[in-house]
Amino acid sequence: MPAIRLLPDTLISQIAAGEVVERPASVVKELVENSLDAGATDIHIVLEEGGIRQIRVVDNGAGIGKDDLPLAFARHATSKIASLEDLEQVRSLGFRGEALASIASVSRVTLSSRAASEDRAYTAIAEDGRIGSPEPAAHPVGTTVEVSDLYYNTPARRKFLKSDATEFAHCEDVVTRAALSRPEVTFTLRHNGRVVARMAPANFAQRVESALGSEFAQSMRSLDANASSLKVCGFAGSPSYSRSSRDNQFTYVNGRFVRDKLLSHALREAYRDVLHGDRHPAYVLFLDIDPRGVDVNVHPAKTEIRFRDARAVHQFVFHAVAKSLAAAPGEAPASVATPIAYGLSPEVSAGQAALSLAQPMASYSARFARYPQEPATAGMAPGAAQPLQGLPLGYAIAQLHGIYILAQNAQGLVLVDMHAAHERILYEKLKSALDARTMNTQKLLIPSTFHADRIDVATVEEHGETLNLLGFDVAAISPFALAVRAVPAMLADADPAEVARALLRDVREYGASRVLTERRDELLGTMACHGAVRANRTLTIPEMNALLREMEETERAGQCNHGRPTWYQMSLQDLDKLFLRGR
Ligand code: ADP
Ligand code: MG
Repeated sequence: MPAIRLLPDTLISQIAAGEVVERPASVVKELVENSLDAGATDIHIVLEEGGIRQIRVVDNGAGIGKDDLPLAFARHATSKIASLEDLEQVRSLGFRGEALASIASVSRVTLSSRAASEDRAYTAIAEDGRIGSPEPAAHPVGTTVEVSDLYYNTPARRKFLKSDATEFAHCEDVVTRAALSRPEVTFTLRHNGRVVARMAPANFAQRVESALGSEFAQSMRSLDANASSLKVCGFAGSPSYSRSSRDNQFTYVNGRFVRDKLLSHALREAYRDVLHGDRHPAYVLFLDIDPRGVDVNVHPAKTEIRFRDARAVHQFVFHAVAKSLAAAPGEAPASVATPIAYGLSPEVSAGQAALSLAQPMASYSARFARYPQEPATAGMAPGAAQPLQGLPLGYAIAQLHGIYILAQNAQGLVLVDMHAAHERILYEKLKSALDARTMNTQKLLIPSTFHADRIDVATVEEHGETLNLLGFDVAAISPFALAVRAVPAMLADADPAEVARALLRDVREYGASRVLTERRDELLGTMACHGAVRANRTLTIPEMNALLREMEETERAGQCNHGRPTWYQMSLQDLDKLFLRGR
C-alpha cells in the first residue's frame, strides 16, 4: 500500500492548469481578460504558430508594481477580490488568482510591466516552477505578458493540440468574443508577423460589423429590454441570416462571455417559429443582472455560470428576443407552405371532406390515399389512356405556387413535392457515385467565395482530400474567406457557397473520417438537400416531366430523405367524392 504523499507544488499547478489552460486560446483568454481588468484601452495580441510557439499580449492598462510582480505568478494571489462579500459581487473578469500561476506551470512566461504610480518598469521570468526576481526593464505604463512554448514540459498534453491553423482559429474566436464585449477598446491581432485583425474604438453596432461582417450587421435588429433587476441588450440576427452552425452566437452575462444552456434554450425557443430546424440564428446579446443573482464561480474557465432564478431569466430573454423578431419590419416568418386540406382519403365521407375544406390548417398527410405500388394499367380516362400507360407518375400539367407539381396519370391526379422528390433522387445518385468513386466534378467559371470562420478555414486546410473525394474543390483565400472552385456536377444548380458551408459543418461536427463512414448518409442528405430545387423555382413542363421520370427510376423515391412523402395520388373517385358526384 503506497503511503499518502503531498504532491510537489509544480505538479499541483500542472494538474490545475489542465482546467484553465486547455489550449493556446485559453491562455489568450486569460491574458486579454487581465488586460481588460487592468483598464486597458489598447490591447495587442501577437501569436506565433497558432500560439503554441508564443503568445504575447501587450496592454496599456494600470500595470503591476515591482513588489507585486512575483505575486502575480503566485497561485490564489489576486488584486481583484479580498473577501467572500467581494466574490458575491464580483464585476471583474478574473478573481481566482490562478491563471498566471497555471500558465507559468506549463510554459515559459516573461511578465514586464510598469505601474502608473511608478517611474520604472520591471520584468520577471517564471520558468520550471521558479520565479526570477524583478529586474529593471524598459516598458511604458502597462503590461506585456509573453508565454512561450506551451506544454514544453508536459508533452502528453502537447500531443492533444491540433494544427497551428486550428489553434489559431480558436485564439481568434477568443479575441472576437472580447472585442464584441468591449467596443471602446482597440484590439490588434497578429499571427506569424501579419496583422490579422485590427478593431478601432467604435460603438456596439460598428464593432459587431467589424467583428462579424457586414452581412450580419445589415440583417440584425437591435434589442433593448429592462425588467426590475434584469437588462438585455444587443443584436439579434434576422432569420434570413441563419447559419449552418452555431458559430455566430455570443451571449454575455455582466460582460463575461458565457455558454449557458438556459440562455441558448431561451434563444432557440424565441427563434423557433421563424427558423428552419437545421439552421442556427446569429446573435450578440448582453445580459446584465445583479451579480448576486448569478454564480460565475462554477468552473475555472468561468464560461459556465449558474442563475439563481433561472426561470425568470429564461422568460425575460425569451420574450425580449421573440418581441424583437416579431416587430422587425418586412420580415415574414420563414414559412412552410400552408397545407391545403382537401380531405380525400377514401374513408372520409363527403360531409367530412366538405368540412375539412373550411379548415385549411388540418393535417393533410393522412388524407390522401397513397399511390398503389404497381404501375397503372387499368381504369384510364378515355383519350388519355395511351400516353399515360406505363408511367406511374403520369405527365406534368402544371406547377402550383412553385412548390408542387400537378400531374395526370391513369388514376387521376398526382401531387409531387418538387423539392422533396428532387432531394431523394440526388441522394440516391450521390450515394452510387460516391460508392463507385465516380463523383463527377464541375469547375466553376467564377469561384464562389464566402466569409468563413477560422475553424472552417482550418477544416478546409486539413481535410481537403475528403472534400475532393466528395467532388468539391475548396481553398482558403484569406484567413476569413474560402473559395469554392468546383462542386459535384450533380449539385451544379446549388448555391456553391451554401452547400460548401453545410458540408463543412458536417465535417466539423462528425470529423472527416466519420463523414465518409458511419455518418455518410447524413452527409449525402445534406448535399442532396442543398442540391435540390428550392421552393418557388419555376420549372418548365419538360423539366417537370424529367423529374417525374427520374422519380420512377429512383429507388425509394416515395420518401424524401427526411422520411416525408414525396408525392400523393388523388384518384378520380376521390375527386368525385369531393364534389359529391355519383358515378
Ligand atoms: P486574477 O485575474 O484571477 O486575479 P491572474 O493569475 O490572472 O488572476 O492574475 C493575477 C494578478 O496579476 C491579477 O490579480 C492582477 O493584479 C495582476 N495582473 C495580471 N495581468 C495583469 C495586467 N495585464 N495588468 C495589470 N495587472 C495584471
Ligand atoms: Mg486573470
